[in-house]
Amino acid sequence: MSDLLNAQDLVKKYGRDENTAPAVNHISMNFEENEVVSIVGQSGSGKSTLLHMLSGIDRPTSGRVLLDGKDIFEMSSREKTKLRLNNIGFVFQFFNLIPNLTAYDNAILPAVLNKNSAKKKQYAMELLEEAGLKDKLHSLPSQMSGGEQQRVAIVRAMINSPKIIFADEPTGNLDTENGQRVFDMLMKYTRENKQTLIFVTHDRRLANMADRTVEIADGEVLNEH
Ligand code: ADP
Repeated sequence: MSDLLNAQDLVKKYGRDENTAPAVNHISMNFEENEVVSIVGQSGSGKSTLLHMLSGIDRPTSGRVLLDGKDIFEMSSREKTKLRLNNIGFVFQFFNLIPNLTAYDNAILPAVLNKNSAKKKQYAMELLEEAGLKDKLHSLPSQMSGGEQQRVAIVRAMINSPKIIFADEPTGNLDTENGQRVFDMLMKYTRENKQTLIFVTHDRRLANMADRTVEIADGEVLNEH
């Protein structure tokens, strides 16, 4: 295994008040290819902020994030968009599907943005079918349950076969049964495709299914096991 993602001394401060403690306070961490890592910690400890910086969604106040040795925040925005489309998938707690697009159109969207949707059509259909969504292809998010929406969101995150999937409390808004189904799907796909999965959860049982767990408190790494 080799280092895929490398975060160096990440700091994130929101606002300008000097007295506000940073949301992320000097965190460094490495992620290898094909590993599953859970991130746990109390609400407000900085987990989402950390995930947003690791995935290039949000810029750190200081520190660097290297993907395959390249600093993602040094890139032009065009280069960064391309890199993110090809290398990073993100699953959010509240699904974040586009409300006026169908399940199929949401799922294929990253491929459309990547200008290779024709090639991905078959793959999208296979994934949606495997996710039990064959009857929902033409449904809008408002016509689907939370579990169904999250399964569409997972297919969307997988469609460009990225190297890394980030998931921020992917089961946080689902009941136990649907949460388990969504989680099993994430684990199965990422293991099969030899992707790296980095997920935040409040559920210790799910956290323990990762290869490694990183515990965050007050914006710092408390321990790792
Ligand atoms: P967690 O994901 O562990 O619940 P967050 O990363 O969401 O924690 O938040 C860490 C800290 O940063 C909290 O104190 C939160 O209030 C603050 N924070 C998060 N996002 C923002 C923001 N956009 N603006 C200001 N403060 C924020």
